[in-house]
Order: sequence, then C-alpha cells, then structure tokens
Amino acid sequence: MSKTAICPGSFDPVTIGHLDIIRRSAKLFDKVIVVVMSNYRKQNTSCFTVEERMELLRRCTKELENVEIDCDFGLLAEYARKKNADVIVKGLRAVSDFEDEFQQALTNKKLNENVETVFMAAEADNMFLSSSMIKQVCRLGGDVTPFLPEEVSADIINRLRGDVDI
Ligand code: ADP
Repeated sequence: MSKTAICPGSFDPVTIGHLDIIRRSAKLFDKVIVVVMSNYRKQNTSCFTVEERMELLRRCTKELENVEIDCDFGLLAEYARKKNADVIVKGLRAVSDFEDEFQQALTNKKLNENVETVFMAAEADNMFLSSSMIKQVCRLGGDVTPFLPEEVSADIINRLRGDVDI
C-alpha cells in the first residue's frame, strides 16, 4: 500500500539540514508533502513570507519527483487527516529537541490516531544547524553558504543582507 509522509516545519529559510531529512524521507515513502506551517511561536520572528519559503523549497527539491510543497495554517493532525497521511517525519538534532517533539507527537496521536510520528536522526554535520542560527550569523556578516542548499543560497543571503524580495 502506498505510504504518504508529511515533513512539517517553519523552513524560515530552508537549510541543508531540512533538505537532508526531506531527501531521506523521499527514499522511504511513496509520497512526501513538505508543509510550511505558520508556527504561532515563531510567527513574529519569521523573516521570509510563507510564499517565499515555499518557492525556496520548490527550487531545491525539484529533482525529487515524489516530493510536493504545500502550506497550512491550522492543526497538523487535521492536515494529516485531510491528506490521508500515514507518517509525520521530524528531524531530531539533540536532546534539547526531544521534549518538545515528544509532546507534539503525543498530542498529534491523540488528535489523529491514524498518523504516526517518526523521528529521523540529524546528520552529525548538521546537528548544530537551525534557520535562526543562519539568520543571525548572516546578518552579522558571517558566511552561511555552506549551510544552505546550493540552488537557493545566493538568494537567501541577499534577502537576509539587503531585504531584497525573492
Ligand atoms: P527550525 O527548528 O530550524 O526552525 P523547522 O521548524 O523549520 O526548523 O523544522 C522543520 C523540521 O526540520 C523539524 O522536524 C526539525 O526538527 C527539522 N530540522 C531542523 N533543522 C534540522 C537539522 N539541522 N537537521 C535535521 N533536522 C532538522
């Protein structure tokens, strides 16, 4: 039976850490939906619009045929139901991610018992990587090129430095 996975996140902006989780999910599942969620905790600190984040994700996943990009503003458990998804894939970087992710996984299970949360270990090289770290380092003049997907790195950096639209 065909299996659908969802990779949710704020992706503000996409990093090589995100892309690694998306690529590995695309090998494991028949269909992968990467969904940009407008996360209430990060809403006020977001830098890229939802449309920009989706556009960046589309550009760096275009060779992955079973991956599609979407956005949603509601409950992840409801989104999963709407899409008939079997699995929610989350990347785990460190123990610090665990408590919050575990709480979310248990809540989502209560809200939609048909969806399982699967945790994928981050690559050792990406353990420290987050969108917020990239934004901070880039604004202070550091080179963040190695942490961003090649297809979109220049646009992300220009946008972060000069606030140019994508
Ligand atoms: P962030 O925590 O960087 O704001 P998101 O909320 O966009 O990231 O996260 C989307 C998903 O990607 C989450 O499952 C998150 O755990 C995972 N993720 C984020 N950064 C990495 C990374 N460097 N390596 C592996 N997974 C990651």
